[in-house]
This record gives sequence, C-alpha cells and structure tokens, in this order.
Amino acid sequence: MSLFKISLDAGHGGFGVTPGKRVPDGSMYEWDFNGAVVKNIMAELLNYEGVTMLRVDDPTGKTDVPLKERSTKVNNWGSHAHISVHANAASDEWGPAHGVETFTYTSPSKTSVELATKVQNSLIKATGLTDRGVKKADFHIIRETHMPSILVECGFMSNKEEAALLKSSDYRKKCALAIVEGLADQFNLKKKPVVVKPVSKPVETSTVKVNVITGWYTEGSSGLAALEKFLKDHGWKYRKEIVKE
Ligand SMILES: [Zn+2]
Repeated sequence: MSLFKISLDAGHGGFGVTPGKRVPDGSMYEWDFNGAVVKNIMAELLNYEGVTMLRVDDPTGKTDVPLKERSTKVNNWGSHAHISVHANAASDEWGPAHGVETFTYTSPSKTSVELATKVQNSLIKATGLTDRGVKKADFHIIRETHMPSILVECGFMSNKEEAALLKSSDYRKKCALAIVEGLADQFNLKKKPVVVKPVSKPVETSTVKVNVITGWYTEGSSGLAALEKFLKDHGWKYRKEIVKE
C-alpha cells in the first residue's frame, strides 16, 4: 500500500520573529497556538494506517520559514494534502470579530473545497464557535501548493474569549482532533486497529526453599506459643523439630 502523504505548517514563527502575529496584550504569539495544533495533529495521525507526514514550518518556532520555502518543500515532497494552521486577528486591539473559518485558494480544486468543508464542519462541531464558513483567498501557501490545500483559522486572537481558548491546551487538542477527523473523512483514512496486548504471565521464579531456624524453645512454653501464633497469623507454614539433648 502506498503511503498517504500529509504536509503541515504552523503559520509564521514564534517568539516575536513574525511582527504583529500575537494576542493584543502580548500574552501569546500566534505560532504558539499554530505549532501546538500541528504537533497534536501529527500525534493523532500516528493512529492512522498508511500515513506519512512532513512539517514545513520551524518546529522550534525560532524562525519564520519563508512561504516560498514552505510551498517548495511541500511540492518537492509530493504531498497529497496540505494543511496550514492559523489563528485569526481582526486588528491589534481587542474587538468583537469571532469564529472559525477555512480557506481554499481562489480557484480551488474540487477536493480542496471538499476537504475545507469537512474540516470546517468538524471544527465547528468540536469547538461550538461561530461558523464563518469556507472562504477563498489568494494566500501563498494555498496558491502555490499543488495538491488539495487548505488554511484553517481556528478563532480570533483579537477576541478576548477566543484568545483565552487559543491559549488552552484543551482547545488546541480539540482543534487538532477535529482537523484530523475532517482530513480522515475526506481521504478515507483508517485508524490502526487497537492492539490489545495479552496480559503477560507472571515470570516463573524457581522456588528456593529456605530453612529459617528461629531458636530453641521448651515445648509448652509461652515463648513457643507466641511464635506459633505469629506464624499462623501470617499464614506461614512451619515445622517443629524435636531435639533430644
Ligand atoms: Zn496566521
């Protein structure tokens, strides 16, 4: 079976290397969200059969890999589908704009539109946020990648409520799982069967019998009675040897 190749990129770079791409109060860079979602997507895709992945942003977030470099890598690798993960912003200030939207290029392939629709619906179902729909845009990464290609905007950094979500690891995971669900649906990707490992038998250890000699007691003495009670209480087997002096 040939492998299904999925390429991914987390938009921009972190640590301020991409100016402006952050929450208005500076508490999160857009890449922090994008990168975490891509990481979660890749972890989830490991549960699928016959999938191979390529990530084309800098996984450390320390550089903003130029868009041309990203799209060239994706095309050279021969990806079967590309997903670019982003968080939205309406301005550098807090504002009312909110919701989730997914983009295809302005003249998209049929498969791109289908993929975008499935991922968008899955994201809306998972997040419960406002459905801004599937849209078209002339963004480099979806224009220059020559396979079904989409760009997801998973909420607004410039919206206080959504910024709080974008910062949470729960929400990042939720988005990743939703994206994978849409992707798997579009390309009929199947989960690997769950392997139930048989419970391993306890290791047989050879029994070495040890004689423990506790001391000398007089038959009928309270010391012997106390010792025998102790042994019985603990379920220990014992043997008395009568010694003739
Ligand atoms: Zn972005």
